[in-house]
Amino acid sequence: MSETAIQIENLHVSLPSRAGDVNILRGIELTVARGEKVSLVGPSGSGKSTLLMVLAGLEPPTQGRVVVDGFDYGRMSEDDLARFRRRHIGIVFQSFHLVPTMTAFENVSLPLELAGQADMSVAEKLLDDVGLAHRHNHYPAQMSGGEQQRVALARALVANPPVLFADEPTGNLDQKTGTAIMDLLIGLASERATTLVLITHDGVLAKRTDRVLAMRDGRLEGDG
Ligand code: ADP
Ligand code: MG
Repeated sequence: MSETAIQIENLHVSLPSRAGDVNILRGIELTVARGEKVSLVGPSGSGKSTLLMVLAGLEPPTQGRVVVDGFDYGRMSEDDLARFRRRHIGIVFQSFHLVPTMTAFENVSLPLELAGQADMSVAEKLLDDVGLAHRHNHYPAQMSGGEQQRVALARALVANPPVLFADEPTGNLDQKTGTAIMDLLIGLASERATTLVLITHDGVLAKRTDRVLAMRDGRLEGDG
């Protein structure tokens, strides 16, 4: 197995707009080692979320090469990529993105179900690990923001993906709750040697990762 979890070469993303094509990512080069935890900071609109969407296989590159966990996205069909995402990638978003009609437990079990797994005990354990065993049968609307993000984190990790992406996971939470979520996120990722790419506005939280990358105008400025 390769020691490199993420390799990006000369990545460009251009999207059409009324005023013509907008160059959102403009020549990104990035290597992240297996198990490394990296944070991505930079002004709003600099392309952080777009970069994460490309890494998650949800936004196709206009140009360049993206290899995650040994899989070269440019050589994969849509179906391959969808299967790959389910097994290899976990994602946490700022606004949680839980299924509102499912309980906490059902949300966390969903990736296992999609993978055809019958044993849901891992979902049970993760819900417990994030301190929400008592919220098992609660729906997202019955939970606080911090609790919903705990559920989302458990869901992202339940299939034990080697790579975890988080886009401002504490952005909708007060500072105390955000710090608790970061403790959990960093703790669980470290325990499992999960490779992490974390977007955050919070310089203090960013410093808790192994490396801080600064993004500006669609380019990475290098190590902080
Ligand atoms: P960040 O996460 O750093 O705030 P984004 O990746 O969300 O930045 O956006 C980068 C730039 O790309 C912004 O200027 C945004 O307006 C633009 N953008 C994002 N999505 C699209 C799209 N689908 N079409 C056109 N422009 C987009
Ligand atoms: Mg963003």
